[in-house]
Order: sequence, then structure tokens, then C-alpha cells
Amino acid sequence: MMQALLPRVSRRRPADAGATGAPGRAISRRNLLLSSLACGATLCLDSCGGIAARGEAPLFSFIFCADLHITSPQDAAALGRVTSAWRDLSPKPDFVVAAGDLTSSGSLELLGACNAKLHLAGTPCYVLPGNHDYTVDGQTGLANFRAVFGMSRWNYLIQQKGVALVFLDVTSGAGARAAVPEETIRWAQHTLPRIPAGMPIIVISHSCLHPDVPRFPIADVSPLFDVLDTKNVLAYFSGHYHANWQGERNGARYISTACMSPTEENHDGSPRKGYQWVDAYATRVAAQFREVQFGQSTGG
Ligand SMILES: [Zn+2]
Repeated sequence: MMQALLPRVSRRRPADAGATGAPGRAISRRNLLLSSLACGATLCLDSCGGIAARGEAPLFSFIFCADLHITSPQDAAALGRVTSAWRDLSPKPDFVVAAGDLTSSGSLELLGACNAKLHLAGTPCYVLPGNHDYTVDGQTGLANFRAVFGMSRWNYLIQQKGVALVFLDVTSGAGARAAVPEETIRWAQHTLPRIPAGMPIIVISHSCLHPDVPRFPIADVSPLFDVLDTKNVLAYFSGHYHANWQGERNGARYISTACMSPTEENHDGSPRKGYQWVDAYATRVAAQFREVQFGQSTGG
């Protein structure tokens, strides 16, 4: 069962409260050989696929998607066909993550429709805003997003079976060029040091935190890295680049996903839209891109 831990700074609870699995262990991953891959077609991002092939069960699995870019009721209906099919997946995901640009305009109507369609998956759903979810530059531009998804869905932390999932808002307005907001830096500096030493962490953001991402690198990530580099981060997941891309830094993997929009294009020219199926283990993650076909009943 997913346990919300630190929805806001002022309401912090012990980081292992309510854990359904073992608390984090001191883990060394330095001996893992990590490779950077340019990703195309159907692709396995698992750097340790041999271990998975021998039957090691993941602690949990989730669907990671981004850049849904809902622009119309027709787009929302197409998304609903995809998420409805997720109900029938076997194994089932434990939850769904949608990391920003849920809509192209941030309208109340489309954000509400997107929220409703995401929940057709029949699992908990965790979201972040993207720059396209702003109606205007500035914090007031997020009023619709907050009206639909609540006040605890831009910087927050949840725990699943001894793994901390850190959701970071790195949007800074309606523009594509992101800079880490001061509020996010303060939240990270306050919250992340309280995650128990060695606990595995998965970081989710709309824009990719890796400085070498081919498009739209964030202006200055160092205030976040100052904190995150001291922790046991297994992987970083993001969208915004609209392309499957993978990097490595400081022993952690960075996985950027293609968009899952019926209308928007990928920025690397790939026609394939879809999501990442993520298996989380105590020392690593395995992510596999699954293509979706909008307009048909499909789930991957
Ligand atoms: Zn986008």
C-alpha cells in the first residue's frame, strides 16, 4: 500500500512510517556497470536484465508516463482508452505516475478530464505539473492544476515497500526552459536529508535533471544535486524532452521518456508514443518502453 509521507514540509512524519516493506538498507551500487544508451524502438533500459531474467521479483512495479498534452475531449477519450486497458495488464502496476504536461493549456476542463481518465487505470495516480499545465507564467498559473489535483502535488514524497519516491517540481512557468524554483530547493534541503541513510530513492520530475540531456537542460541543478548526491538514488525519471533517452551520473540512471500524447510529436523524430513500465528492486530499477496506439483499445 502506498504511504504518503511528506506531502508538505510542515507535516513531516518519520520517513519509514507506514512502510509495508523492509526499511532501507545500506546499499553499494558502485560495482554495477551502468551504460548510457541512445534509445530507439522497443527498448529495455534494464542495466541488469540478466538478474531479472533469473526470476527475481520486483518490490513493486509502476507505469511512468509524461507529456500527455490533452488538448480536447477527443484527446481525453483517447487517453481513457489507454488507461482503461491498463486495468487488464498482468501483472498489474501498483500505481501510475504522470510527470507533467498533462494538458497543453492548463485549462480546468482538460486537467479535470485528464485526472478522470488517469484514474480509469484503477490504481493510485501521482502527478506533477509541467510547463504546459500553467495557464500563465508564475505561481498563479498553477491555480487550475491545484484545483484539480490538490495542494500537495508538486513537491512531495511517498514510500512504497522501503523505496522513497521523490516528486520534484522543476517547472518555472509556462516556458520550456526550466530553472529549479526556490520553493523546490527549500523543500529538498529540508526534506531529503531526513530520508534514512541508504534508503533507495527514485526521483520524478517533469524536466530531466541530467545536464547532458540533449534538449531543454535545466539551468542550474546544483542546489538539488548537493542534497541528492548524498543519497542512495537509484534512478531519475522525467519527460519534457519527448524522447526516450538514458544517461548516468553519480551511479544513478536517468530515464527520459517519449511523450504519450495523441497529437504532440516527439522531439527526436520518433513516431512511437507510450510509457515506461518500471520494475523497482532494492538496488536498481528496470524500465521498458511500451508503445501505445491511440484510437484503438490498447495498453501496451
Ligand atoms: Zn511536453
